[in-house]
Amino acid sequence: MAQKRKLRMKKSTRVLTTIIVVILVVLLGGFLFLQDKKIKLQKIGYSKEASNKIVSLMMWSKVFDVGANKTLNAAFESSSYQDKNFDHYAKIKYQDQKDLIKNINILIKKGYKDSAISLILSRGKNEDVTAFAKREKVKYLEEFFSVKYSHLAYYDRYLAYQDLENNDAETTVLYVNLDFDKEDYKDVLEISKFNKYTLVNKHRMLTNKYIPSNLKKFPQDEVKGSEEFTANAEVVTAFHEMREAALKDGKDILVNSAYRSYEDQEEVVNTYLEAYGQSYVDNYVAKAGFSEHQTGMGLDIASADTSVFLESDEYGWLMENAYKYGFILRYPKSKEEITGYKCEPWHYRYVGKKIAEYIKKNNITYDEYYVMFLEEEL
Ligand SMILES: [Zn+2]
Repeated sequence: MAQKRKLRMKKSTRVLTTIIVVILVVLLGGFLFLQDKKIKLQKIGYSKEASNKIVSLMMWSKVFDVGANKTLNAAFESSSYQDKNFDHYAKIKYQDQKDLIKNINILIKKGYKDSAISLILSRGKNEDVTAFAKREKVKYLEEFFSVKYSHLAYYDRYLAYQDLENNDAETTVLYVNLDFDKEDYKDVLEISKFNKYTLVNKHRMLTNKYIPSNLKKFPQDEVKGSEEFTANAEVVTAFHEMREAALKDGKDILVNSAYRSYEDQEEVVNTYLEAYGQSYVDNYVAKAGFSEHQTGMGLDIASADTSVFLESDEYGWLMENAYKYGFILRYPKSKEEITGYKCEPWHYRYVGKKIAEYIKKNNITYDEYYVMFLEEEL
């Protein structure tokens, strides 16, 4: 009897063991299967966090169909992930923004197409997109924001300026970015970051604290008169090169003014104010802080032979050749509306050869070039 029971026990133990082993094998197999999916997901670029979420939601086959996708990865990493938006995430262009998925969800709900959402995300920072997502769905979205230098935060200004001026969307964006919707000297930007490309005009000013760091003196034989002038070292070198070339062509160009401090400019303004009055100053003389001369990148050029620069051979030579040495005529006659200054045939700005050539060939101003190609993201 005892032996029989022992046998039965042994048999039931065996059955139990088998069941446990089978369960363990199944579990292990399942575990290995899921691990394999996670490894494959990570191999094509999904993060560990995203891969875990994909596997726990059993979404891997849909994800493998899409392949590597940064927006989808961000979606699975985010607590805002919504299953119903999967196909949208896969089509929307990724941006490195904290609330990317949260904002995408809101924009989808507002009725924007995936391509429109990609545009919105690309034209602002996280906080701009968050603010924009709170608005009702807007019109002219594609028109404005397909212009690559457009800013999401300027939407209302674009709309208002377009209603006012009736320009095409690209011109509207360009002009608003140039602050044409603001009065001169009103609500100006105080420039805080400086480099040799710094743009100064009636909407962008330097404070009295700004003094360029790399000023160099012009050799006195390259200067008209006995006053001493400095400019950015690169400008001094480029002017020398240009002067040598001009001399070879029988033209003698000289520096008539170069770097001027904030205080120097104040003096200039007062001198002209006394001599010619307010209206002359408004049209021809920059207020202190608003002069390109304070950047150390601007020059007034004179002819050695005559004091009437417009009638000199040097004027014509510079119009033809200055760009080859990295200089542009900063305030041309045909662009007075854009620069905000009456033509100054003697005032040149150094921008380097590449930019000078582009500006010359495309007949645009430095203001436009700056907005289109150089302005940092706002
Ligand atoms: Zn000047």
